[in-house]
Amino acid sequence: MTTAAAAAPRSLLDLTFAELEQEFAASALSPVHARALWREVHHELNPDPAGNADFSPPLRRWLAAHLGKGRQFHLDAPAETADVASSDGLTRKFLLRLGDGQTIETVLMGFTGRHTACLSTQAGCAMSCVFCATGQMGFVRHLRPGEIVAQVRHAQLALRAAGREGVRNLVLMGMGEPLHNYDAVMSALEIITDRRGLNIGPSKITISTVGVVPGILRLAAEARPYHLAVSLHGATEEERSALVPASRRWPLAELTEACRTYFAETGRRIFFEWTLIAGANDSPAQAERLAALLTGLDAHVNLIPLNPTGGFAGTATPSAAAKTFQKTLQAAGLPSTIRQRRGIDVAAGCGQLRADNSRAERQVEPK
Ligand code: SAH
Repeated sequence: MTTAAAAAPRSLLDLTFAELEQEFAASALSPVHARALWREVHHELNPDPAGNADFSPPLRRWLAAHLGKGRQFHLDAPAETADVASSDGLTRKFLLRLGDGQTIETVLMGFTGRHTACLSTQAGCAMSCVFCATGQMGFVRHLRPGEIVAQVRHAQLALRAAGREGVRNLVLMGMGEPLHNYDAVMSALEIITDRRGLNIGPSKITISTVGVVPGILRLAAEARPYHLAVSLHGATEEERSALVPASRRWPLAELTEACRTYFAETGRRIFFEWTLIAGANDSPAQAERLAALLTGLDAHVNLIPLNPTGGFAGTATPSAAAKTFQKTLQAAGLPSTIRQRRGIDVAAGCGQLRADNSRAERQVEPK
C-alpha cells in the first residue's frame, strides 16, 4: 500500500458503486456508508460531500482523511470555459477544461422535458475522419470514467440551475471514439446508469462508433444494454475510406459482418449515421447502394447534413437533394431521419467549439 502507484490521487467519480464498496471495505466502512456517499455525490451532485454534516462520524472521518487536495481522492469538477446557447434556445454547448488543461465539449439539446446530452470520450480523436473538427485536431488522450461522468453532472447542474427537467437521453457523439476507450466508457456508463445516482436508463443511451470492429463484437459478447450507432458515410470501400480513413483498418465488409453478428446476438436495431456531403455521397445511386448494403439488418439511417469545418472544403447537401436521398432509401425499404442541424450557430459539430476557441486564442497571441 506504500507504492507510488497506490498513492496516486484518483477521482471519486472514476469509481463504480462496487469499487467504492471495495474501497470502503478496505477501510472497515460498511456498504451503508458507500450508499450514503454515492447518493450525495451522484444523486445530490454535491461538489463537496466532505462538508455534509449529516453523515455519520465514521464516514465524515473517512472523507476528511481521503478526499481533497494532496489526499488519495479528489472529485472531478471541470471548469466551464464557454457556455454558448444557439439562437433558437434549444442547444447549449459547454467547453470544459480538465485538470491538465485539455478542453472537451459537452452539448445539451433541449426538447422540452427530454433533454439529450452529447458527451465526449477522448480529448481529440485518432480516427481522422476528414470532415470532422475533432479528427482534424488529432488524438491527445483518453478520458477517465470520471471525466465522462463529470460531463453529465455538469449538464444536470446547468438544467437544475435553470429550473428544468434533467437529462433523459445520452449520446456518445462528442469528441473522440468511444470504442477506442472501451473500458473507461463502460465504467462511466455503469456509473451513469446506476439507479441510486444519476439513474439514466441504459435504453436511453447511444454509443456512436466510427466502426471499431473488435469493440462492436465485444459490446455484443458482453451483452451491453446500450444502443449502437455506426458512422458509415460511404457504402463502397473506396468511397468510405476517402472520408473515414479508419475504414482501411476495419474494412466495410468486416464492419457489416460485425453489425450482423451484433444484430444476431442482441436482436437490437442498429442506427447508421450518414453525413450528407454535396457531390460526395448524396446521389440516388449511392442511396441505393446503402440500402443494398444494409439488407437484412434492422437498420435506421440518420442523415446529417455536413456542418462545415475549417479543415474540409466540402459543403452540405441542399435540403431538396437530402429529401431525394431519403426517398430513395424509403423506396428500398430502409427507414431514415434527416437530422436538423440544430445549433449550427453554436458550432455544434463534433469538436468545432474547441477548434474555434483555439483559433481565437491563437489570434490574440502576440506576434
Ligand atoms: N467517433 C464516433 C463518435 C463521435 S462523431 C463516431 O465516429 O461515430 C459523431 C457523429 O458526428 C459521427 O457520425 C460523425 O461522423 C459525425 N460528424 C462529425 N463531424 C461532422 C460534421 N462536421 N458534420 C456532420 N457530421 C459530423
